[in-house]
Amino acid sequence: MHNESSALLLGKIHARRVRVALYAGGSLLIFMGLSWGLFFITQRLWLMIGIDVLMFVVGLTCLWLTKHNFTRSASFLMLISLFFMLCGMNVFLDIPNSVAPRSLHNFLLFFALYAHFILQGENKWVKYGVPLIFLAAFLVFASSNAGIVTNYVISDQIRIGGTWFNNVIAIIILCMMLYIMQADLSKQNKISRDISVALLDHQFVLYYQPVVDNQGIVFGAEALLRWNHPVRGLVSPSEFIPLAEQSGLIVPLGRWVLHSASQQLALWAKNPLTAHFTLAVNVSTQQFHEVDFVTHVLSSIKKTGANTSKLKIEITESVLIHDMEDVVAKMNELKSAGIGFSLDDFGTGFSSLNYLKRLPLDQIKIDQSFVRDILFKPKDAMIARTIISLGHDLGLVVIAEGVENKNQRDFLIENGCFSFQGFMFSEPLPVKEFERFAKVSLD
Ligand code: C2E
Ligand code: CA
Ligand code: CA
Repeated sequence: MHNESSALLLGKIHARRVRVALYAGGSLLIFMGLSWGLFFITQRLWLMIGIDVLMFVVGLTCLWLTKHNFTRSASFLMLISLFFMLCGMNVFLDIPNSVAPRSLHNFLLFFALYAHFILQGENKWVKYGVPLIFLAAFLVFASSNAGIVTNYVISDQIRIGGTWFNNVIAIIILCMMLYIMQADLSKQNKISRDISVALLDHQFVLYYQPVVDNQGIVFGAEALLRWNHPVRGLVSPSEFIPLAEQSGLIVPLGRWVLHSASQQLALWAKNPLTAHFTLAVNVSTQQFHEVDFVTHVLSSIKKTGANTSKLKIEITESVLIHDMEDVVAKMNELKSAGIGFSLDDFGTGFSSLNYLKRLPLDQIKIDQSFVRDILFKPKDAMIARTIISLGHDLGLVVIAEGVENKNQRDFLIENGCFSFQGFMFSEPLPVKEFERFAKVSLD
């Protein structure tokens, strides 16, 4: 759930561009409505004036919705009204003849591109379906004389001038779209480049959040990635992990994490005070589905000499959506080498209980969103209780994340959960501070 609520940088950049695109689209509708409307007033063509008033009102409403953060409603209002207005005008008003060609259909082409851009965040049916509908309509109007001649005819003279005007506007929209898309792409490229440089430049570090038992004694840690940015300071993973996933850089980044965590485990193994520590490592879905994921984990362990039984790989339910057979096979292979598995953010995703039985899991983690309101929201308390008893029935260790105060911890203990992680005990810490916290530091 934190993935949804956290400020995802890429999402933010794109959301800003969508707002710009909606402002531009709304302003364009206002401009077109006004200019054509004023012109048709001089011609006393009342139906046309009506259409232009509609265009003006839709444009204004889109600007208002965008300003008040209803960008999704603004997008749909804009696209639906544009589609019907454009098709209507193409069918009834802008019918090509030997004197003047059709021009309004060109807008359908550009708005297909526009729709694809502003619907990036929608599911694939909407993201690709809506532009396809615009393109199909463009194809019909561009390839035929399709139209219904009514007695409401605009003179050829107006249509000749109008064709030039409409096509100039369509070209301006095209340039605007290309500019916005280019800017979007170069921003993404820049961040991806920065991540690659950061990897080579050793700007990533692992922090360790203690995992404690009901006595408050540390028995392990979760490794959490931080980007030590030369200008921005410590950058949170919620900002860069989604970008690393988008660009595929999560694979080398994830390999680095696994390697560093294994190195740390190997170091802890040498000290009797720390040899029993478990270390959990987050593995993203894309990384897990790499063909050589298993080989890579095993080679990291071999190279560093880490004790496999202390390594816990944390996966989320999203790993399980694709090719369950492959997931189970990979997990079994790593499991037979002694590595453990933890199911992270349990209860927030694709919660089919059926898969739980099939996976060789060791732990499940109650997501912090349930723990946060465990004392105030009976539903969250009930979910937490259900997860705990389900975990026990399946013979799994249940860890509660995001425990921030004593009351939450006591509630969890009363309900049978004895392993915790959270700010009540400690934030994620650099390794030396973690060791001091766990009272195992030799310094
Ligand atoms: P996560 O795996 O669910 O990690 C727990 C997050 O909760 C951490 O945020 C941690 O600092 C935070 N947290 C711990 N205790 C508390 C608490 O008591 N209250 C609150 N409000 N928060 C608490 P962090 O370190 O910012 O990491 C965010 C997410 O980034 C992680 O969520 C994980 O999904 C991802 N991540 C971090 N490191 C890695 C990594 O090495 N690889 C991958 N693929 N993802 C990573
Ligand atoms: Ca985790
Ligand atoms: Ca989690």
